[in-house]
Parts: sequence; C-alpha cells; structure tokens
Amino acid sequence: MKVLITGGAGFIGSHLADKLLEMGDEVFVVDDLSTGSLKNIEQYQDREKFHLVVDTILNEAVMNELVFKCDQIYHMAAAVGVKLIMNRPVETLETNVKGTEMILMLANRYKKKLFIASSSEVYGKVMDGENTRLLLEDTDFLMGSTTKRRWAYACSKALDEFLALAYHEEKKLPIIIGRLFNTVGPRQTGQYGMVIPNFVQKALIGKPITVYGDGSQSRSFTYIADVIDALTKLMAEPKAVGQIFNVGNDEEVTIMDLALMVKEMTGSSSEMEYISYEKAYGPGYEDMQRRCPDITRLKNLIHFEPNTDLRGIIQSVIDYYKK
Ligand code: UDP
Repeated sequence: MKVLITGGAGFIGSHLADKLLEMGDEVFVVDDLSTGSLKNIEQYQDREKFHLVVDTILNEAVMNELVFKCDQIYHMAAAVGVKLIMNRPVETLETNVKGTEMILMLANRYKKKLFIASSSEVYGKVMDGENTRLLLEDTDFLMGSTTKRRWAYACSKALDEFLALAYHEEKKLPIIIGRLFNTVGPRQTGQYGMVIPNFVQKALIGKPITVYGDGSQSRSFTYIADVIDALTKLMAEPKAVGQIFNVGNDEEVTIMDLALMVKEMTGSSSEMEYISYEKAYGPGYEDMQRRCPDITRLKNLIHFEPNTDLRGIIQSVIDYYKK
C-alpha cells in the first residue's frame, strides 16, 4: 500500500508512520512543520519507503499529486493543543476547516479511502447533570458561546465531521472518523498545553507542577500505541466506513491526582501550584469538568482493548524526557 499521512511529522502522525512502515507500507508524509518536527521522523529520512514533503495541506497542486499517488489517506494535520488554539484562533480555524475541505475534495476526486482524525473536543462542555455519563458517539454536543475562543476548535472539528459524513452519504466517499481522546506518549511536546508532558518536564527539573483550576476536573488518557493500533485496524475494517468512533480509554483521573502521581513517579520535590484558568490561558477560556469516552463501538468492531494503563503512560513520558 501507498499511504499518505497529513501531519505525519507530528506526535500522532509520526507514530502512525512508524507502524505503517513496520507493516511494510510505503509512507508519504506531508507536514508544514508548524507544530510537527523533523526530529520525530529523522530516523526514516534514508528509507526507500519513506517520503517527506514539507508543505501546507492547502497547496492544492502538491496535495493533488500525493492523493492521486496513494491508496489510502490518514488526515492527521490540524491545529493542536489548547494553548495554540487560544493564542492563534485564525490559524486554528483555517487549518482545520480549509485543510479538511481540501483533503475531502481531493480524496473524492480519486475516490481514496480516508481516515479523519477528529477530537473529543467536539463533545464540548460535558456539564454536570445529564451529561455526566460516558460519552457515546451519538451524545449531543454542548458548545459554549462563540465569544469563548476555546469552542472554536470544537466547532471546526465538528464541521469537519459534518463535511466528511456528507461526502460519504452524497458522494459515496469511503471515510472513517476517529474522535481521539487525550492521547499521550513519547514525542508529545508540552509546548501547546498538553498536561502530562508539562507535569513530567516540570517535575523532572524541580519546578512547580501547575494545576489549572482546582484540579477536580478529570480526563481519561490513552497511550499512543493503543491509539495507533485502533487507527490501523479501523482502516483495515470495511464495516468502519461511514462511521464515527471514540478512540480512547475509559480509565479516569482527576488532574490533581495526576499531578500527585507524576510527582511520586519522578521522585520529584516539586511543589504543587494552583493557577486560575484566566491566568493560564487568558480570558475567554472554559474547561470541561469531565471527559471520558464510551468505547463500546470500538471494542465491538475491532476488539479494542487499551494495553497501557495510566502509570505506564506516565512512565513512557518520564523515560522520554529523561533521555
Ligand atoms: N492542565 C493543568 N496544567 C497544565 C496543563 C493542563 O492543570 O500545565 C489541565 C487543563 O486545564 C485541563 C487538563 O489539564 O483541565 C487537560 O489539559 P490538556 O491541555 O492536556 O487537554 P484538554 O483535555 O484540555 O484538551
């Protein structure tokens, strides 16, 4: 197979490249290196079956050639990380909406099978009360006001999903949508927000571990290898076409407990520091109190079972940053 990965120099995209090369595929990566890094893929530069194109996915001529040439596409390129989204909203919206439009239009031109990486952000606020249950793929979204910048990302990803489903229904394009929950592992940078690399790096150098809000909010984290396993199995499963899948882990932890675990596992003397959301992200920020997936659909179709638990995930990040 010839496989195209948009955003293939990023954290998730580069791990996907690892796996596809291991499976014997020929891999084409397109990445503008905005948040991706050459370091993530330098080990492949001399491989015959690896090709890197440094460009934006909005370059139609370049993308047309790549899509034409490849058998399958994983569309992973997107603006990532809450910090980046808060700081650069125009870029976020344009990359996510126009980029996906471009890929769908070209995939449809040559009728290529396409995996679209969406995000658990689409569920929105997940308020207390009715929404405290695990999130199912068909659970209603609860978006905040357009004046709260954070929701721009959620809406851009939701629009990507609408567009992908419309291409599937109207034009019979074979698409699969994966809603990725907080994915973690080696190569993830803390630069754009992500909590675990942030906590680990601070703990390792003895700086205060910064908990935003009161730390009672919870998340569920999934190890990168489990996510990649799910993505490649979904791509190989004909019944996945036209469907949306939560890709995550249903083990939950509060951010405060997470901070304590990181401190304990690193043997760090770092202090815990509580910072308001406003101070952390600036005005216009709202957090969700809880976000945990129901992964029954994924389990039923591809027998998905997360292999690495939270301790294993944290340890992998500690090992990576120690190195
Ligand atoms: N968070 C934190 N300290 C940090 C980074 C993040 O307390 O240094 C919190 C953040 O406010 C959120 C959770 O950790 O409640 C997960 O944040 P992340 O940006 O990793 O992902 P999100 O789930 O918000 O997309």
